[in-house]
Amino acid sequence: MKYISTRGNSPAKSFTEILLGGLAPDGGLYLPETYPKVTRDELDAWRSLSYADLAFEILSRFATDIPAADLKAIVDKTYTAQVYGYGRADSDFSEVTPLRKLDESVYLLELSNGPTLAFKDMAMQLLGNLFEYALERQHQELNILGATSGDTGSAAEYAMRGKKGIRVFMLSPNGKMSAFQRAQMYSLTDPNIYNIAINGMFDDAQDMVKAVSNDHAYKAAHKIGTVNSINWGRVSAQVVYYFKGYFAATKSNDEEVAFSVPSGNFGNICAGHIARMMGLPIGQLILATNENDVLDEFFRTGAYRPRDTRHTYETSSPSMDISKASNFERFVFDLVGRDGEKVRELWSRVDKGGSFDIKGTEYWHALAGFGFASGRSTHQDRLKTIRELWDEYGVMIDTHTADGLKVGLEQRRPGLPLICLETALPAKFEETIVEALGRKPERPKALEGIEELPQRVHVMDADVNELKAYISANIQH
Ligand SMILES: *Cc1c(COP(=O)(O)O)cnc(C)c1O
Repeated sequence: MKYISTRGNSPAKSFTEILLGGLAPDGGLYLPETYPKVTRDELDAWRSLSYADLAFEILSRFATDIPAADLKAIVDKTYTAQVYGYGRADSDFSEVTPLRKLDESVYLLELSNGPTLAFKDMAMQLLGNLFEYALERQHQELNILGATSGDTGSAAEYAMRGKKGIRVFMLSPNGKMSAFQRAQMYSLTDPNIYNIAINGMFDDAQDMVKAVSNDHAYKAAHKIGTVNSINWGRVSAQVVYYFKGYFAATKSNDEEVAFSVPSGNFGNICAGHIARMMGLPIGQLILATNENDVLDEFFRTGAYRPRDTRHTYETSSPSMDISKASNFERFVFDLVGRDGEKVRELWSRVDKGGSFDIKGTEYWHALAGFGFASGRSTHQDRLKTIRELWDEYGVMIDTHTADGLKVGLEQRRPGLPLICLETALPAKFEETIVEALGRKPERPKALEGIEELPQRVHVMDADVNELKAYISANIQH
């Protein structure tokens, strides 16, 4: 399996060649040359597999340059009860990503029981093990540099902690995160994890990361890399739970289902699109946004109009406060018939802060064939959905999952079972849960009292030279 760029001007590469990198040299994103097709017999055989075995079957179609025995060892080490049992209230761990039935045809797929209580752990934990494996084979090291306002940074740290050949330098805004978020990150004492609290806002931290990354000589000499949401390894790992959820909600492979997906950077639902292209019987992919509804607008009207940070609202589902979806280009490449030149033309506008509109073109007609529906959800909708679910079923969901459930119920085609992806646990969003229900969410046992643990963090002014000096000093052997 080779990977090509959505902009059509980069040489094809293998899975491990693109694993540690970001964008393709022409500025595009990598996708498989063709999607592996799953036969009916394979689907039947996969129905009863454990998560790790299913992950092996699917990932071995994508990571064809990793020997089967090695890949098997990597997925077996990743998808365990120990890693994906944190968020379970009970100790009787039964499986990775259990499906919770709400009523005859509505389900929650629990993707948030990993160490940071959000679905990002599903892919990031695998990435940690894949990175360690690839670096060891290439006798290389990697220093991951990132900025976070909470979620992605902690998922990356929990995935990379203790990994050979990898260090993580993670910048966060000093004093701007919740006590729980701070504790989650700063209580990690692994020597390869460096938490840096910047005296400033998230954007200042982000600018420092960009400044270091744009210093190409420094970047190369210090082996600086990132783990952002466009990483193909992450997207491919997310394909697995669409299959898992489908098998758990159906009895035969003749049935179709709808998935509803709380969306921001389009990474999660892009994996659903790929699962569908591989042949999984997905009748509908329902994209849910919050008040930042750029993607909803596209699927309703054909206009893609990304907004800048000044026009991005802060909401109570903060991980979806995104107005420029970094993975969206992958879907558009398929939508325009894999025409790299067309993608270049569309993104020549997007990259300059502009927009495009496909209404009235052949692509608008093609869109109907991809099974998407979409909708948006507001703060009031979240509160209402959280309350209704609690009153009716005694089930507590987080704000992002509430957006997905609200839009999913609204948009699903009659007769299709609806699988809502649970993207975080309510324990992460205490304030809004208290607003909705007048009570605090339960916190998983493993995380009780983490605010009391000793913390390790280096405080720094928003000074790029100081950051460079700090990194250099800490990677000397
Ligand atoms: C990252 C995240 C999302 C958005 O996922 P994308 O892949 O960016 O679309 C939704 N909910 C939660 C809780 C997240 O952390």
